[in-house]
Amino acid sequence: MAAVHRVDVIVVGGGMVGAATALALAQADLEVAVIEREPPAPLAGDDPFDLRVSALAPASIALLDRLGAWASIRAERAALYRRMRVFDAAGPGDLTFDAAEVGRPYLGYIVENRRVQLALWSRLRDFDNVEFFTGSEPQRLQSGEREVALTLADGRELRADLVIGADGQRSWVREASGIGASSRDYAVAAQILSVETAYPQQDITWQRFTPDGPQAFLPLAGPRGSLVWYDAPERVRARHALSPEALRESAMAAFPEELGEITRVADQGWFPIRRLHAHRYWADRVLLVGDAAHSIHPLAGQGANLGFADVAALASVIDELGDRGLGDVRLARAYERRRRADNHLVQSLMDGFDWGYRRRDPLTIAARTVATQLVANVPPLRRWMTRMAGGQRLDE
Ligand SMILES: Cc1cc2nc3c(=O)[nH]c(=O)nc-3n(C[C@H](O)[C@H](O)[C@H](O)COP(=O)(O)OP(=O)(O)OC[C@H]3O[C@@H](n4cnc5c(N)ncnc54)[C@H](O)[C@@H]3O)c2cc1C
Repeated sequence: MAAVHRVDVIVVGGGMVGAATALALAQADLEVAVIEREPPAPLAGDDPFDLRVSALAPASIALLDRLGAWASIRAERAALYRRMRVFDAAGPGDLTFDAAEVGRPYLGYIVENRRVQLALWSRLRDFDNVEFFTGSEPQRLQSGEREVALTLADGRELRADLVIGADGQRSWVREASGIGASSRDYAVAAQILSVETAYPQQDITWQRFTPDGPQAFLPLAGPRGSLVWYDAPERVRARHALSPEALRESAMAAFPEELGEITRVADQGWFPIRRLHAHRYWADRVLLVGDAAHSIHPLAGQGANLGFADVAALASVIDELGDRGLGDVRLARAYERRRRADNHLVQSLMDGFDWGYRRRDPLTIAARTVATQLVANVPPLRRWMTRMAGGQRLDE
């Protein structure tokens, strides 16, 4: 019979949010086991850019910095942006947020998801209180009064005070612990194009809303960008089958002139978009973080930022209440209290944008133009929204 591993916390899922969670716990001197079925492959500086990139807000960057991972993420192909423009294809609404207005050097950075994950994994290896269980996945979860037991598909067994589900939108932990979730698919899919551009490196990210869905440009390091093209799934699938040259022409025809010329489509892929919120963020000796707890419409690039906010909140709750025991229900409740309303607010805001901008009737177009002009012409409101987009919340 295989030996039983006993740790303080088991983190299932070593993606960006799970790895950050494990690192925060390791820094708090807890014994941590990370279970990840697909460890990240190395990513060299001259490899093609990864398709999956994220806009990280200052609050997430501050967390990654506290975890000791930010310096190495920033050093490798991270692209800073100072301005964010949002405009309407069907009306005159046009709004630009500028970091200078709120006294910040930047609004955020565009980073490759795998780079973030690799930097966190590299930091985790510095800790001898972290063990990795890779290439396997959990099969059985049993919460008891004193501990929780997790059996892996390869027969290994782990026990801990707490299991954290950081295993993404289709979370096994969420289902195995009976938490459940409400979810629905959006009417659009997201096609991502990693492109080279005639423009040199840019420090602006922009998003044009069309009735079919938003079209976004995220600057990458060098004369490159990541385009996110939300559209009906059947059109996305049809374009996915195009040659790189045909796709280049198709994107040039559909995207606004702000993009300039695309010189090459280096990579492309597409993702279904789904909204999900777990019924609760905890069960007996189980907690959920990141996409396992909530996933949102990515139109404003906030999903991973919300996950990192979960990590920061969990770390501070453990710091404040940790001596009561990791399996204490008060800890779970305090964590959920700190995060649920914020996640719900951002999720609802994204749905509001999606709904409002997809409508084609003149009344809605007029209403969103007025709303945009209001923000554009009332500097305190604009500054408040700029800070919110950076991860600063009402209570800060
Ligand atoms: C098109 C698109 C664009 C986006 N853009 C942005 C953006 O600009 N900014 C932003 O903040 N967010 C963005 N997001 C959202 C962001 O990608 C997610 O919120 C984020 O990746 C969630 O991270 P996670 O670690 O919670 O989950 P995941 O990234 O899904 O990681 C889960 C991990 O768990 C592992 N795993 C899963 N199941 C098991 C199992 N049973 N056993 C072991 N391991 C398991 C997986 O292999 C994976 O490594 C975007 C999303 C999409 C779809």
